[in-house]
Formats: sequence, structure tokens, C-alpha cells
Amino acid sequence: MDNIIDIVKEQRIFFNSGKTLDVKFRIEQLNKLKKAVKSNEGAILSALKKDLGKPSFEAYSTEIMQILNEINYTCKHLKKWTGPKKVKTPLELLPGKSIIRRHPFGVVLNIAPWNYPFQICLAPLVSILAAGNCAVIKPSELAPHSSRSIAKLINNIFPPEYCRVIEGGVEEARELLSQKWDFIAFTGSTGVGRIVAQSAANNLTPVLLELGGKSPCIVHKDANIKIAARRIAWGKFLNAGQTCIAVDYIVAEKSIVKELINEIILSLKSFYSDNIKESPDLCRIINRKHFERLNSFLVNNDKIIFGGSTDSNSLFIEPTLIYKTEWPDEIMEEEIFGPLLPVIEYEDIGSVIEILKAKERPLALYLFTKNKPLQNRVVESLNFGGGCINATIMHNASTFLPFGGVGNSGIGRYNGKSGFDTFSYQKSIFYKPGSIDPKLPYPPYKQKINLLRKIS
Ligand code: NAD
Repeated sequence: MDNIIDIVKEQRIFFNSGKTLDVKFRIEQLNKLKKAVKSNEGAILSALKKDLGKPSFEAYSTEIMQILNEINYTCKHLKKWTGPKKVKTPLELLPGKSIIRRHPFGVVLNIAPWNYPFQICLAPLVSILAAGNCAVIKPSELAPHSSRSIAKLINNIFPPEYCRVIEGGVEEARELLSQKWDFIAFTGSTGVGRIVAQSAANNLTPVLLELGGKSPCIVHKDANIKIAARRIAWGKFLNAGQTCIAVDYIVAEKSIVKELINEIILSLKSFYSDNIKESPDLCRIINRKHFERLNSFLVNNDKIIFGGSTDSNSLFIEPTLIYKTEWPDEIMEEEIFGPLLPVIEYEDIGSVIEILKAKERPLALYLFTKNKPLQNRVVESLNFGGGCINATIMHNASTFLPFGGVGNSGIGRYNGKSGFDTFSYQKSIFYKPGSIDPKLPYPPYKQKINLLRKIS
């Protein structure tokens, strides 16, 4: 294993050398990363297949393509983002000039989960490096093939004093967290997020916490049910439901709930055929522990209306619909993070909104309706990180939409410019001419207060 203390020390020396302040240097490094991602495409796809059974199309669209888009967009705008920004100067401070500069924090730690192992290691990294920081990344030990390929890719192109991947599990993560960092980015569960925030507090280190939660999907009676069903089925069962912003559960209006369930079943059959287990397009559960956790919801569950079959050898769990789920059911307690989809029915949207207000704030929320006032009511009255109207999960794929949670689902944002903003801070500088020196601020004050009264 790398010596963590030495790496952090060397990165701090490298950062203090000022080399990363040069925007040209940063763009060169991002282009190096882009080239390496492209030339390692085969190895990345193969690692994702081994870890999660990810079909190449899914792996490319949700992991590789997002990184390449992020690099392209960032390189195009980086000069503008980093440039000094002149702002107004208040009358009482004149003569003078006010400038805001964007400055990197320094040495940044990024700890990642296993579900999109490649994308979640590298997407924040693009912003971290673009902002002019050095970085240490710890991928998840639960996706070992991906972790290995990320380590190979990054450690081959960058020197350790600039950017280093350190592989390992909880022990390594703890050792990393015991160091002094200038910024910590963490993506993972809310429980571990709390541990990360606590250790960051020791050094008052700022954090980006991208956590999980139970993301609801409301389907109102006036929605196009066929389209809603297809979009829900796609966003839910992609990566076998192991997506932080996957629909965790459906809340559907009573008069359309049966039609919705039927349409979701038809969509599943059209995606994965009648023999879902043999489909090459459905991912597997990451490991036995998560398989057992999910399987425990299926045993003796008389609410399963579709699916429910499993195969522990291949870690297969069939996309499963659970109806009539009730709010107090056990499956409604924790984030599901798998291909199980509870369906709750409602009669009064007002009471659904009140129930959701009382729950922890989710990472995402989805609403299917043509009713504009209802769209506004839900978006304005509920707290959630982000979401979609008449779609699922797509908000995360846009470089132009800041991504992140609120409350229990996280702190901070990244994607495009918001990532650059997160990993840099505003350094405000007031420039005063050295030769002229108005006497207003200095004693004796005498009647000067009257002048302040006039201009305030
Ligand atoms: P996790 O919290 O178990 O692990 C995440 C990382 O933390 C791993 O690298 C792991 O090695 C490390 N870790 C685990 N225990 C630790 C400890 N005690 N101390 C220090 N580090 C520790 O999460 P996971 O199971 O890998 O991922 C699933 C969770 O991540 C879900 O809740 C999901 O919603 C969330 N997630 C969120 C986003 C987002 O963008 N908001 C994206 C993907 C996943």
C-alpha cells in the first residue's frame, strides 16, 4: 500500500509550488485524462461487466460518456471561470478596485462508492483538477475490478504528488480521513457521510457530501401512463436499481395505479424479454450481502404482484413490483438500492405532499403529470436535491444542472460549472491606490458621521 502520509505531504509541496494555478497546465491534465479514458475504454467496460454485469451500452452512456462530456465542457469554459471578476466598489471605499478570484483549496480527498464506480471517481475529479487542486481518490473495494482499472489508469498518467488513486476498504478510508485535507468529497451512504463530516470537522475541512435516500415518484391521474411506465421502468431498473437517484417507490393515484403497473410490466418485458434472467441488458447485484438484504424483502411477501424470483449464484434479482405497499411497511424504512419497486396508491395529492414533507429530504423526486399548477405545487412545496417532471434520473446527465442532495441526502453540488465552484473558493481582493489617501476613515472623526449618514 502507498504511504498515505507521504503522498499527502508531497501533494501539499506540489500544490504550494503554484504549478496547478496555471490554467494551461490544468487543461493539459484534463486532456491527458480524456485521452486515457478513451484508450482504456475496453478495460473499463470489461471491469464494469465483471463487477456489476453492466451491459456495454449502459456502462458507456452512464459512466464513460458523462466523464468525456464533463471534460469537454470544462476545458471549453475553464479560462472564463478562472479569470478574475471585477465587481463594483462602494462609494465610501473609493478610490479603489474590487476583484474576485477563484482559488483552489489545495489537496482534495475523493471517496467513492461502488454503484457507478468509474463515473463517481472521475466526474468529481474533473472539477477538482479543473479548479487547480491536487487529488487523492479512493474507489470502493466492493467493485474491485473497476477499482483496479481506475488505479491503473490514473496512476499511469499522473505523478503521485499531483493525483493518486489509493485502493482499499474501510481501514484505508479511515486512515485517509485521519489526515488533514483542504477539501473532502464523499459519495456514499448517509451513515458513512456522517462519519466523513465528523472527521472533516476536526480540521474544519469543507465537504461535498453526495448521499442517498428514498426518492419518490408521484404519478398523477392525468399523466400519459404508457410513457410514464416506460420512463419509470428504465430509470428504476438501470444498473438493477443500484442508482442513488433511482425511483425508490411509486405513489400513484388510485384510479390509474393498476394501468400503471400493467404498463410497467409490459415495459419490462419489452426491455428484457419474457425470460428476464437471460437478458444481457440487466445488471447483477454487487455482492452477496446486498443480495441477501434485498432478498429478505421478498421472502413470504404476499404483496409481490410481479417478479420476485432470484438466483443467489449469479446474484440475479428479478425486477419486482410490490403492491399494495403502505407507508408503514418495512420496505419504506430505508433506501432500497435494488430492483424492488413498491407501489403505494393515493386518493388525495394534498395528503401525499404532507406525508413527504414529514420525511427525510430525498436526493431526487419525480412527478408525472400534465397539470402545470400541480407541477409547480410539488416543486415549490417539497425539499429534495433535484428531479424531473415526466421523466426519471435524466437531471443527473446534464452538465448544465448542478447535482446534489439536501439535508440527509447531501451537502453541495457538482457537474459542470457548479463542480468548479465547489472545488474552488472566492478570494476577494480590494485594490487601493498606494498614492492617494482620503482621510475619511481615520480619527479624529469629528462630524464625519454625517457624511456616512448621507451616503447610507
Ligand atoms: P458506503 O457509504 O458504504 O461506501 C462509500 C465509500 O465509503 C467506499 O469507498 C467505502 O470504502 C467507504 N467507507 C465505508 N465505510 C466507511 C467508514 N466506516 N469510514 C470511512 N469510509 C467508509 O456506500 P456504498 O454502499 O458504496 O454506496 C451506496 C450508497 O451511496 C447509497 O446510499 C447511494 O444512494 C449512495 N450514492 C449516492 C450518490 C450521489 O451522487 N448522491 C451516488 C452514488 C451512490
